Amino acid sequence: MAEQKRDYYEVLGVEKNADEAAIKKAYRQLAKKYHPDMNPGDQEAEKKFKEASEAYAVLSDPDKRKQYDQFGHAAFEPGGGQYGGFDFGSMDFSDIFGDIFGDFFGGGSRRRNSGGPMKGANIRTSVRITFEEAVFGCEKELDLNLKDPCPNCNGSGAKPGTSKVTCTKCGGKGQVVYTQQSFFGMVRNVQACPDCNGTGQIIKEKCPKCSGQGYVASRKKIQVSIPAGIDSGQSIRIRDKGEPGTAGGPRGDLLVEVVVQRHPIFQRQDTNIFSTVPVSFAVAALGGEIMIDTVDGKVAYNVKPGTQTDTRVRLKGKGVPSLHNANVRGDHYVTLVLQVPDKLSKEAKEALIRFDELTGNSLKAVDQYTKNKESAEKNGEKKKKKRLF
Ligand SMILES: [Zn+2]
Ligand SMILES: [Zn+2]
Repeated sequence: MAEQKRDYYEVLGVEKNADEAAIKKAYRQLAKKYHPDMNPGDQEAEKKFKEASEAYAVLSDPDKRKQYDQFGHAAFEPGGGQYGGFDFGSMDFSDIFGDIFGDFFGGGSRRRNSGGPMKGANIRTSVRITFEEAVFGCEKELDLNLKDPCPNCNGSGAKPGTSKVTCTKCGGKGQVVYTQQSFFGMVRNVQACPDCNGTGQIIKEKCPKCSGQGYVASRKKIQVSIPAGIDSGQSIRIRDKGEPGTAGGPRGDLLVEVVVQRHPIFQRQDTNIFSTVPVSFAVAALGGEIMIDTVDGKVAYNVKPGTQTDTRVRLKGKGVPSLHNANVRGDHYVTLVLQVPDKLSKEAKEALIRFDELTGNSLKAVDQYTKNKESAEKNGEKKKKKRLF
């Protein structure tokens, strides 16, 4: 485990029973104090800001708060460690910022016109894993093309020794206002400046290493800890492995979607596993032990005498571990399907005929019926004849 995480309530400085409004208020204060825009280059503040944001993301969501109250940090970090563990699903910090800072930074325009630190974009990728890897968790290595700030120009895109100049078209605002005549009078349209792409600055001499992009891309190997119990379509968030931020802003995140391959015999629904297992007539009739494949290997199971086909049995705790607590596992449901032999030796056939004679003579049922009917008819005719004469 990496360093001990602080309690989310402690981080926000609220009571365990604090209501939504109190949590929001506490976070708003911390966020204003530690926001990277307010503390450019201050790593400690950035750390505090992230910590508070994470605490808020969990405690402001009733479901996540409930999980956290029950399981603590383990609810979200089965893998633990430096990668930040499991994805928070619907959590998106930009939503929270929009909500919290809407009145503070003047809404969505914050990023465009400030030129200040800005978090890099998230990158999405996917990884294919086997059914068993999803059940028990695994480590995967991703090979990704990642951008880093250009070391030659420190990410500015300008040739070292030169500097950016203020865009003359927009005067450094990054926006241009068009006024148009319409049916309703004059309409003002605000658009990102086409000359400087909304940055407010123009690179006169481009950095030769990155051609003015400000970043260089290279192949990187990224380790992903995939927690036991993950299902197809779920994502893992790896913090700070996304696009680089600008002007000292933090990197975006890498979101890895997990695609689980089909298994030839197991199907999965949530934490339960389903499969069908053939059972011979003798075992079904007499009872006996069979071997059943599970994700833990083969398991002996005692079939009860007189078991009918399509009987479903439960192997308790042989299912998929819960994402939130690997010690809690679902069950494995097995449907026992009676097998009819299609190849029989002469002896086996004779034995089966003998068996049938002892258990209701089903093989001769039609013959018997016809004979009975014929003899009944004959008897009837005899009776008729008797009556005639
Ligand atoms: Zn460069
Ligand atoms: Zn401009």
